[in-house]
Amino acid sequence: MSSIPAFELSQQYQLIGDEIGQAVLEILASGRYIGGAAVENFEQQFATYIGVKEAIGCNSGTDALFLALRALNIGAGDEVITSSFTFFATAETISAVGATPVFVDIEPGSFNLNLDLLEAAITERTRAIIPVHLFGQPTDMTRLMAIAEAGQLWVIEDCAQSAGATWAGARTGSIGHIGCFSFYPTKNLGACGDAGAITTQDVALAAKLRRLRDHGQTQRYRYEEIGVNSRLDTIQAMILQIKLRHLEAWNDSRRRIAARYHSWLAHVPGLVTPQAPTGGESVWNQYTIRVAAQTSSERDAIRQSLQQQGVGTALYYPLPLHAQPVYANLGYRPGQLPITERVAQEVISLPMFPELSQEQQQQVVYALKDVLSAKAA
Ligand SMILES: *Cc1c(COP(=O)(O)O)cnc(C)c1O
Repeated sequence: MSSIPAFELSQQYQLIGDEIGQAVLEILASGRYIGGAAVENFEQQFATYIGVKEAIGCNSGTDALFLALRALNIGAGDEVITSSFTFFATAETISAVGATPVFVDIEPGSFNLNLDLLEAAITERTRAIIPVHLFGQPTDMTRLMAIAEAGQLWVIEDCAQSAGATWAGARTGSIGHIGCFSFYPTKNLGACGDAGAITTQDVALAAKLRRLRDHGQTQRYRYEEIGVNSRLDTIQAMILQIKLRHLEAWNDSRRRIAARYHSWLAHVPGLVTPQAPTGGESVWNQYTIRVAAQTSSERDAIRQSLQQQGVGTALYYPLPLHAQPVYANLGYRPGQLPITERVAQEVISLPMFPELSQEQQQQVVYALKDVLSAKAA
């Protein structure tokens, strides 16, 4: 049997490669590589898809988060509450604007913020909450927005992994004050390089975000604040327009794959499947299980055995952010975020991409059962 990668893009490229190639060649021939109709059209189509008034293209998901924090004037002396079990950029951008990330523990089933712990983390310095819809799984936004409103806090949704996911019928990125998307190639909607977008219902905020992504420029060569250069490239915008038309079908396919993993892995001893949300729909950027492991090296050995059977897996994330060397100054101690710490040593992300076949999935499940029963014996 051939080996199965944790993720791959080659089959998707076979499907739409010709269309993308032709569109890119047209842009190359046009000589116009910054801005233009492709960017505006994509922004409009993405806003419509998410269900917001405005979408602002930018360079990456990291820039989207940075620009969102800047647009809300969050900076030195401010605290922003978020998860420690996420990609570094979520906290990195809080630090980059001069504010302090405050980490709250997660729920082991969804890997998202434990909302029971949120209120206790709010201080008089807290300005915002960044829920991360990790692995495509939506956070309970009804409850989170109620807590934020009571505390008069901004909500920036980190939707880097949740393009298309919904909570209570609304897409992630349309519920908080700002939504931040990444179009990194491995995300559900991926460009052919770095790209991102910011979504909001607030037209004034959108205007500010458009200025900030373009050096704070108000008119040509007139600057009223310090911004950055974070435009969405014309070529990437065109590629994203083409791929956006397929996103629903790809997300449906991910849901079918997740449903199969759920049923095939439901009663396998030594592993826990991720909990599907009850108030919304996940888009399964990752299908992440937890294995019984006392140490991360025990988990790593399981991944290695799977690799020997031809099953590629991924590890998101091996070291929580509060335990990163760069955040030693924040003073978190081992044991302070117990679920985050335990989950980080138990997680394995199984192969997940829309083209993964039933046969390949079966092979993943057989290998997993085999490796876990050999471990138990
Ligand atoms: C990918 C990702 C980002 C950063 O996006 P880039 O486009 O890579 O800059 C931020 N947050 C989360 C949760 C991510 O997965």
